[in-house]
Amino acid sequence: MKTYPAEPYRIKVVEMPNMLNREERIEAIQTAGYNTFQLKSEDCYIDLLTDSGTNAMSDRQWAGLMIGDEAYAGSRNWAHLEATVKEYYGFKHIVPTHQGRGAENILSKLMITPGTYVPGNMYFTTTRFHQEANGAQFRDIIIDEAHDSQIDLPFKGNIDLAKLQALIDEVGPDKIPYICLAVTVNMAGGQPVSMKNMRDVRELCDKYGLKVYYDCTRCVENAYFIKMREEGYADKTIKAIVKEMFSYADGATMSGKKDGLVNIGGFLATNDDELYTKAREMVVVYEGMPSYGGMTGRDMEAFAIGIKESCVFEYICHRVEQVAYLGDKLISAGVPVVQPIGGHGVFLDARKFLPHIPQEHLPAQSLAAHLYMESGVRAMERGVVSAGRNKDTGENHMPKLETVRLTIPRRVYTYAHMDIAADAIIKLYENRDSIRGLKFVYEPPMLRFFNARFDYVS
Ligand SMILES: *Cc1c(COP(=O)(O)O)cnc(C)c1O
Repeated sequence: MKTYPAEPYRIKVVEMPNMLNREERIEAIQTAGYNTFQLKSEDCYIDLLTDSGTNAMSDRQWAGLMIGDEAYAGSRNWAHLEATVKEYYGFKHIVPTHQGRGAENILSKLMITPGTYVPGNMYFTTTRFHQEANGAQFRDIIIDEAHDSQIDLPFKGNIDLAKLQALIDEVGPDKIPYICLAVTVNMAGGQPVSMKNMRDVRELCDKYGLKVYYDCTRCVENAYFIKMREEGYADKTIKAIVKEMFSYADGATMSGKKDGLVNIGGFLATNDDELYTKAREMVVVYEGMPSYGGMTGRDMEAFAIGIKESCVFEYICHRVEQVAYLGDKLISAGVPVVQPIGGHGVFLDARKFLPHIPQEHLPAQSLAAHLYMESGVRAMERGVVSAGRNKDTGENHMPKLETVRLTIPRRVYTYAHMDIAADAIIKLYENRDSIRGLKFVYEPPMLRFFNARFDYVS
């Protein structure tokens, strides 16, 4: 039997969550219009809405806050963060930003001209928005298997080199400002990219003089998968693997809210002197001076320490295996989930879970609401509600993947919490016939998943 590593930490401070009873939870979700986004965080016992900014910081990071140097220029914490990113990620230049999307904004504005194409291994919402807002078309070049929830592959986030070659042949290298390579791929369920694939992408891009920028938000989780799954990496340290990954990149955008082990922060990294000079100028108007970019001195100190802690093997092993524990438990019970289990969360396949509810009746939305009522666990719909409507026809997008996402915050919950979530999901699965579909009673025109309200279909 597979074993899972014990928590590699001792708990020094605890937060006491409210534990509402079933009647109170039913009242709370009704008040929220059956939308888990509209629940109060304090009404959730176990909050798996996102792994973004929900990290628990270490005692060293909290101590780091106390040595925050809030000078407008020349802060020592900036020096620490810059040196840490250079040492661990290996890039030549760093420009700080308030979070990942701030870096995406600057990179897109400086690199993209209208009428160009940015290929990527599946899209991420804000990344794609910035690319398109600057006049590029996004092209998905991830391997086909990534779009199928039931194909088990070790590196399901890989770029399909034939798709990249086809795009180069179709539009020409001059029309491709850069390739966006995400490690891991969030929207595919946290699936990793192999080192071989990164090397191959680099080689192909060098042939045409193309730049490669990584979305390195979950780069440490990706490095862990390489160590465990790819030949030749079992004996390498996480730090060495992370550094090798970035040796095939021209730069990267980073959200510290994920693998940076902090609650806010980000940066743009690049080896390009000219881009760096322009980014340092541009960051001033969007984020702040190039020695803080929207972060406080104390934020930067915690971020620098977080980057170092994230590359400790015991930490990342527990983090990824804790997610796998929840997924494996559900798989053993026959619950349909997206496979293989990725680095940051478990995705329930709501179409297979609730085959009697047609997609128009929002099975994933209903499942997320029932999970909360059953257990106080908050998850998120990632299906037809999140996908929205086609701008031209007004029709609902009907995505192939209709999922409920259970994202696990880093260092926050224990295996016992995972058991509570798993047991509640298994119980719902056994009683799935009693779950009914939902309909919109209020549908906002934009980003509808956030503020929408629902009720049962009659
Ligand atoms: C969260 C995220 C971003 C954006 O980062 P923010 O810090 O939320 O702005 C970009 N890419 C991926 C893959 C992410 O998960």
